Amino acid sequence: YLAKEGRTGVELYQPNKDRNSPERLNLLGDLRRAVDNGELRLHYQPKVSLTDGAVHGVEALLRWRHPVHGPIAPSEFIPLAEQSYLMRQLTAYVIDSALEQAARWWHTGLPVRVSVNISARDLLDSALPEQLELGLAKYQLPPAAIQLEVTERILMGDQAYQHEAIKALAALGVPLALDDFGTGYSSLIRLQRLAISEVKIDASFVRRIAESEDDARIVRSIVDLVRSLGLRSVAEGVETDVVALRLAEMGCDLGQGWLFGKPMSPADATTWLRDRFEPSSAIEYGYRPEVTQTA
Ligand code: C2E
Ligand code: MG
Ligand code: MG
Ligand code: MG
Repeated sequence: YLAKEGRTGVELYQPNKDRNSPERLNLLGDLRRAVDNGELRLHYQPKVSLTDGAVHGVEALLRWRHPVHGPIAPSEFIPLAEQSYLMRQLTAYVIDSALEQAARWWHTGLPVRVSVNISARDLLDSALPEQLELGLAKYQLPPAAIQLEVTERILMGDQAYQHEAIKALAALGVPLALDDFGTGYSSLIRLQRLAISEVKIDASFVRRIAESEDDARIVRSIVDLVRSLGLRSVAEGVETDVVALRLAEMGCDLGQGWLFGKPMSPADATTWLRDRFEPSSAIEYGYRPEVTQTA
């Protein structure tokens, strides 16, 4: 997790790495209270078309401002939560909060798809499909308003595509994105069997495509593979024009990164979206203004 923290460029609180250290246990206790205390917020980062700059969705990223330690990175507290029953509660909060924000956008003429990150165990939780179905109904949203981002690690198991919860999600019509692609071992066959619509190429490959021919080759072959399967490719961690241009030349569909927009508060994300939203990108979501705007 160190590499990611380094990338944020912010000085972040780092508890002792020892799993049972008093610091970590304290932090876990603090995290338990954080949801109720309103210390957790979602920020939103846009995904844009590399060819015409159109907005194709936003990714919800969890932010925790600790009352004493200040901002703590997800790479610090998500693994901590994953080791306890707390993750389930965090995921429930993230889904409700993301759907609430999606509804604000969809019902005011900004039908932008909101992606949420789902931890391994929560994806296989048999309660998840129902939770999503109830949430979509509560906020009067179609399944296409939301997308779940899951890391390839989760889907490594040979039988993942037969899993009841994953089948139920597919039946519900909520799209899945494969996060951090390239860092694990997903095979072509698994990509085909799972109901995945989007593959996100890990930033560690994307970042150096302008300097490293090896990295460029890897990304190009992932883009080709993803396209041959009829899926959408998204490059993560796009920071420079040169990288965006090379990705576009490779035929990569979407980019996400600081070049286009950092993760933003809901208010800032709304302003950002209002300035850039093209009605044409709404068509893909099956957006019907007469239905959604009256809600
Ligand atoms: P991820 O899902 O792969 O999210 C992308 C990460 O890259 C985010 O880090 C984002 O802020 C960062 N990023 C985006 N563009 C750039 C860029 O141009 N340059 C650089 N250097 N970084 C960029 P963040 O927000 O720290 O989140 C880290 C990870 O924590 C996420 O990786 C995701 O796996 C996890 N995470 C975040 N929020 C949640 C959540 O609500 N639930 C779960 N289960 N996991 C979450
Ligand atoms: Mg993600
Ligand atoms: Mg990722
Ligand atoms: Mg990641």
